[in-house]
This record gives sequence, C-alpha cells and structure tokens, in this order.
Amino acid sequence: MYYNEISGVKVSALGMGNMRLPTLEGQGEKIDREKAQQIIDYAMSHGINYYDTAYRYHGGESERFIGEALKKYPRDSFLLASKFPGHMMEKKGGGILGFTGMLAGRPDSTVEGVFREQLQKCQVDYFDFYLLHNVSEKSLPFYLDPEIGVIDFLRKQKEEGQIRHLGLSSHAVSAETIDEFLTKYEGVFEFVQIQLNYLDWKLQDAKGKVEAIAKHGLKVVVMEGVRGGRLATLPEAQMAKLRALRPRDSAVRWALRWLQSLPEVGVVLSGMSALEQIVENVETFSSPDPLGEEEKALLTEVADSMLSWVPCTACRYCTEGCPMELDIPKIIAAYNGVKNGDFMAGYDLNDAAPSMDPRRCVGCSACASICPQNIAIPEIMSEFAGMLTRR
Ligand code: SF4
Ligand code: SF4
Repeated sequence: MYYNEISGVKVSALGMGNMRLPTLEGQGEKIDREKAQQIIDYAMSHGINYYDTAYRYHGGESERFIGEALKKYPRDSFLLASKFPGHMMEKKGGGILGFTGMLAGRPDSTVEGVFREQLQKCQVDYFDFYLLHNVSEKSLPFYLDPEIGVIDFLRKQKEEGQIRHLGLSSHAVSAETIDEFLTKYEGVFEFVQIQLNYLDWKLQDAKGKVEAIAKHGLKVVVMEGVRGGRLATLPEAQMAKLRALRPRDSAVRWALRWLQSLPEVGVVLSGMSALEQIVENVETFSSPDPLGEEEKALLTEVADSMLSWVPCTACRYCTEGCPMELDIPKIIAAYNGVKNGDFMAGYDLNDAAPSMDPRRCVGCSACASICPQNIAIPEIMSEFAGMLTRR
C-alpha cells in the first residue's frame, strides 16, 4: 500500500468505502456481517487505514457495522470518516429536524442528536474525518441556514476534539457551487469528496470540480471511481483495445490507475463488496502506477464513446421510495445497454420481472427528487417502455 497526505495525516491511497458491503441474499441492504468482517480484516492487515461511512448507508447499519468491525483494532490504527445527513433533513422549528427521502419516518432529532448518535453507533469518541454529506444546489439552503447552524456546531466539535478534520462530499451539478462554498468557508473545510472517474471527467465536469478544489489547496477524496461498478464491465470492443496494451489488466484496474495519475487525489474510496475485489484493489495500490500518455488517450476514447449514457451510479438512493418497487438502477442499466447495443439486447418485457418493467412506473417523481445525479428517471422509464413496446 502506498500513502498520501490529507491535512498532514498519512492516508492510504486506497480507502474502504462502506456503502456497498456484502448483503444477505434476498434481504435488501442487510449486511452479511461475516463476509463484511473478512473484508475489513483484509483491509486492516494490508495497510488500508481510511474507512468511510455515512449516516444513511445500508439503511443506517453501515455505521453500526463499521463500529463493531473496527472495535478490536487500536483506535489510532484506523481513520474513521462519517457524514452529517443534511441533504436528507428539513427544519421543523425550535432546533428540531425531520428526516426526508429514504430516511423519512425516522424520529425527529437535532444536529447534536444526530452527531452523538453517530459517535455512539461507531463506538468512537471522535471522528478523524467528518463531512457534510452531499453539499449541492439542493442541499445548500439547509447547510447555510443560520438557525439550523450545522456548520457552526461542527466547527465547535472540531475545537473540542470530537472531529479531527472537517470536509464535505458533493454531488453538485456545477463546479462553481463547490468553489463558492469553499470560498465562503476558506480555511474551515480541509478536503472534498467527489464522484471522480474517467467517464465523469467530462460527463459531470469532474475536471472542473477537481480544479475548483485544488484552487483552494485541498485534496480530493474520490467516490465512485468505477461508477458503482459500471466501469468494471466495458463493451468487448473497448476491452480488446485495453487488452492490446495491458493483456492482464481488468477494466477496474484501468479505472483505478487513471485515478492514480491525478496528483490532486488523496484517497480513492472503493465500496468493496467481495474479498476478490479488495485483493485485486490492494494489489493495484501496492505502488503508484499512473497511466502513460497513450493509455490516457485510450481511456479518453473509451469515455467519449459512453458520453450519451444515463449517468446512474447504482447508489440505490431512489429505490426505497418507489411505490411500484421498481429496480430503478437495473432498469437504467438495461436502458443504457439496449440504447447502446452492447448488452441486454434480448431484453423482453414479456419475461421481465415486475421490478424490471418500466411500464409500471406511475411517474410520481419520488425517485427523481432524491437522485444525486439529477437523472430524469420518470422520463427514462417512459422512453424505455416505449422503446421496448415498439421492438
Ligand atoms: S417515478 Fe416511477 S420509477 Fe420513480 S418512484 Fe415513481 S413509480 Fe417509481
Ligand atoms: S437513478 Fe440516481 S438515485 Fe437511483 S441508483 Fe441511479 S444514481 Fe442512484
């Protein structure tokens, strides 16, 4: 494992993301604790020291799991990062906050109540890194509301030692949003976690976002480095070109080496859900192996061929609120496949499970209002249903 630095802290170049832990068959997001513990133990014994979680991951169980999983290790042997879920909260008055989106239905709380709950679930008395979760055009009014006072509260926790380093994650549409936020809070936030991979470099202006963050002298923590697994499987024609240069390398390794080429990157998070994945990724990060110019040009060509794809990262934020229980990310993957003719060409509505039938969408938009990628999901369902009906 090689290491970088964020705010003077030595961080492993590969970090363990805890949003896509292995789950129990047929039990939704319920974590398979035995398999997940094996992954954490492998990470700890192979030099990974950065562990990222959030209030909402795995329906709230990710924080509890990682707290249990890391309990047997000395507190100074790992760095724990979690996030304040302001992007899924609303003001109710008198300091009381309600939960929205997939957290809707939880008992009301306060900024302090949420933070203390997180410390308790993670079984720690401080977070090494703590982030505002998804500062975006949609969530900014909440985060900037002086009556709610999230940022003031977190700065106080930092002064008192319960947060060592303060940062933010962001799925903002525009790089300017991040730049303006960092300008307003110059010197307060120490790192920014963004969605970064060779496809989003152009597709979601990740290039502009990296430049905005670097302008403030901050490091980037990478999420979605392989786009929720979408960049793990490339069309055969593209894979053949990559293999011609590096016969043994997987598409994942290409995506991760592309990230190793960016000096602005501090940690690359990977939501590893199987032991094989962490074994391969640890090997990829055994020493830096940035792409050469010819390799970079090839990945740019691969990315350019995908620019018309719907940018779903399979985060599944949208699925819990769907009244028709549609498997939205899988339907979008099928839509991308059918539209680009690279897989699922035999997709047949007559054989599709109800959860995979876009005709069942009632257009309620519950999904679109929560999607961090701002995908117009009901429109896609309608277009896909039309495409499949006409075939
Ligand atoms: S718009 Fe369609 S896909 Fe989205 S939540 Fe409503 S029914 Fe589900
Ligand atoms: S459609 Fe949006 S919210 Fe749903 S899985 Fe894809 S990226 Fe996530």
